[in-house]
Amino acid sequence: MLSRSIPCVWITFCLHLCCYVDSGDAQNAKEVILLDSKAQQTELEWISYPPNGWEEISGLDENYTPIRTYQVCQVMEPNQNNWLRTNWVEKGDAQRIFVELKFTLRDCNSLPGVVGTCKETFNLYYQETDSEVGRNLRENQYVKIDTIAADESFTQGDLGERKMKLNTEVRIIGPLSRRGFYLAFQDVGACIALVSVKVYYKKCWSIIENLATFPDTVTGSEFSSLVEVQGMCVSDAEEEADNSPKMHCSAEGEWLVPIGKCICKAGFHQKGDACEPCGRGFYKSSSQDLQCSRCPAHSFNDREGSWRCDCEDGYYRALSDPPSVACTRPPSAPQNLVYNINQTTVSLEWSPPADTGGRNDVTYRSGLVDTYVTIMDLLAHANYTFEVEAVNGVSDLGRTQRLFAAVSIATGQAAPSQVSEVIKEKVQQRSIQLSWQEPQQPNGVITEYEIKYYEKDQKDKIYSTVRSKSTSATVNNLKPSTAYVFQIRAFTHAGYGTFGPRLEITTKEEATAAIVSSEQNPVIIIAVVAVAGTIILVFMVFGFIIGRRHCGYSKADQEGDEELYFQFKFPGTKTYIDPETYEDPTRAVHQFAKELDASCIKIERVIGAGEFGEVCSGRLKLPGKRDMSVAIKTLKVGYTEKQRREFLCEASIMGQFDHPNVVHLEGVVTRGKPVMIVIEYMENGSLDAFLRKHDGQFTVIQLVGMLRGIAAGMRYLADMGYVHRDLAARNILVNSNLVCKVSDFGLSRVIDDDPEAVYTTSGGKIPVRWTAPKPSSIANSPPQVMCGVMV
Ligand code: AMP
Repeated sequence: MLSRSIPCVWITFCLHLCCYVDSGDAQNAKEVILLDSKAQQTELEWISYPPNGWEEISGLDENYTPIRTYQVCQVMEPNQNNWLRTNWVEKGDAQRIFVELKFTLRDCNSLPGVVGTCKETFNLYYQETDSEVGRNLRENQYVKIDTIAADESFTQGDLGERKMKLNTEVRIIGPLSRRGFYLAFQDVGACIALVSVKVYYKKCWSIIENLATFPDTVTGSEFSSLVEVQGMCVSDAEEEADNSPKMHCSAEGEWLVPIGKCICKAGFHQKGDACEPCGRGFYKSSSQDLQCSRCPAHSFNDREGSWRCDCEDGYYRALSDPPSVACTRPPSAPQNLVYNINQTTVSLEWSPPADTGGRNDVTYRSGLVDTYVTIMDLLAHANYTFEVEAVNGVSDLGRTQRLFAAVSIATGQAAPSQVSEVIKEKVQQRSIQLSWQEPQQPNGVITEYEIKYYEKDQKDKIYSTVRSKSTSATVNNLKPSTAYVFQIRAFTHAGYGTFGPRLEITTKEEATAAIVSSEQNPVIIIAVVAVAGTIILVFMVFGFIIGRRHCGYSKADQEGDEELYFQFKFPGTKTYIDPETYEDPTRAVHQFAKELDASCIKIERVIGAGEFGEVCSGRLKLPGKRDMSVAIKTLKVGYTEKQRREFLCEASIMGQFDHPNVVHLEGVVTRGKPVMIVIEYMENGSLDAFLRKHDGQFTVIQLVGMLRGIAAGMRYLADMGYVHRDLAARNILVNSNLVCKVSDFGLSRVIDDDPEAVYTTSGGKIPVRWTAPKPSSIANSPPQVMCGVMV
């Protein structure tokens, strides 16, 4: 009876059940379906064993779409063991599969007379194989996945209320290792309708993230595993340095944790998930830049996808210039090139070029950053041309024609360079013979060498000098066994050069016998010392008197080839001798000035009015020498003897000086008329008029150069022991090279004790308030008064 009544129950159950099948579960985008019983409209034909167990039944879902289900309801009989096995499912890429079961299950309590036999669960199994294994079902080959119980079962009453309880259970199987598998359902006496069986695995579907493509990726075999996936840059993109794109595919089929990225290559920019080329007239120099930029000034491009723009004709880009800067061109020539000469040193100064070419890296060949330069140690009396060329970072790329400012300059005189290679030729007990090479740059004809020496261990370094006209000398009267220090310098028309390096030489020992005998006989020693002392004293007194008479310097003294001077302290190079101290001033003139033949002088024009007559310019041509420009001071006709003396006095003073910043006397004409003083020609005349005429036209460097020259001349005069007493711009002469020289030594100066006093000259009055104060009043005198140059 029971067994007959069950189908009736079941049919009712089935009809209702079929209406409640959930057909609305749209395929989840992350899932790949391996088996879906609902999707199959034909018979499923799974294996059911024993044949009276699970039964395939057709039904309709709520859309009246036919579906296939399996049902079993052997609740009345004990010991049920009904198996249902799916067809073989090929797993594909899957490592971990999801089994979703939808079923209804009848509540045993609602069935009469089934106590003890009715069950409310069923078992789920699977078997992995590499291929289909036929239609035989061997229980022991199946692995149990789980016992499935219904969350909700239904009763007859539910059916009456048309409330069907559809259960959904999902189980996960994995990792799978074979090519495919079977699922099996074991019923042990329940009333079940298996409405749908769906088997699927999850995938992370291909996406583009941060300009990288990530392919379809099957999730990992473990629930917790994240599969790391390397992204591929989209076209015209590249991986960011050290930051390659990666993502992680989660077990749920979701992309997680993006790392790194791709960026559009140079010449391309990002638009959505792709890289597009920069348009014409735009560029993108690096993948790091985000946007394409417009071509910078003086550059262009006429193609798409450019990483840089080309320069217009005549414009360039230096190698170090980034593509983002404007194209530039070489600079124009420097402007306002001026120069200043001081002997063999030339200072140049200029202004930057009017056109820097659009760059701020202008320098001047070679490598000068400043707009001035000083060039030292040029050859004396030589013609130089200096070219100043402005260059910038693109000069070497562009212009073939050089643009520069140039000046041609003749250098002045210069003292000789150092005497450095000194050799000790012969060392005796009391004498040392030295030889040396001419200095590398004599800068003129060397007329004399000065050898300075002193005892090394002497406390106050009193030294003596010897002069020689050749490149060797013997220094006599030395002490035996004594260390001496020697230094040598050369002398030319331009003055002394600097001393060379110190050379230490020790004289030989005195013969032992002499020492022994003198040690043995103190009387002899005393006698020798007494005699030597007397001789030295006589020499010293004699030398001192002669030195005083000749004021420490005499032309006659210099005539011998070598000569030894004894000096207690080393004096300045030369000392000025006041011509007034000569009884016969004419003798003084001829002592210090060369008498010229009037026929060598050609007067050309009058250039000024002097104290005693006109000042003219002209030419002086001495036999065997090149003719030169000179200024000629003349003594006006009808002069008195006193005026003649005073006139020539200037020549006697000037003739003693020899310095590049003191005006140079060429000679005098005293044996003819007019009486003349011939001086080097200073093309730019007196400094005061010159400065007024060119007011504001000089640079600081030029003005300082002039001041330096005047100071050097004045210092020379002071070292000579000469007090000028009328330093003023009107008494400074300027030559064509802007070299300033002190002049005007001809004033008849009378000093009164009155501080407000003036010097009186026949030309006018000269204030004395600026003259050097007497030593006692120095402390109270403002220093600028002593140094000022009055214009
Ligand atoms: P002095 O008698 O020295 O004051 O000279 C009168 C003027 O002659 C000066 O102001 C200069 O203009 C000019 N003068 C004097 N000496 C020279 C010279 N060596 N070269 C050029 N001009 C000179």
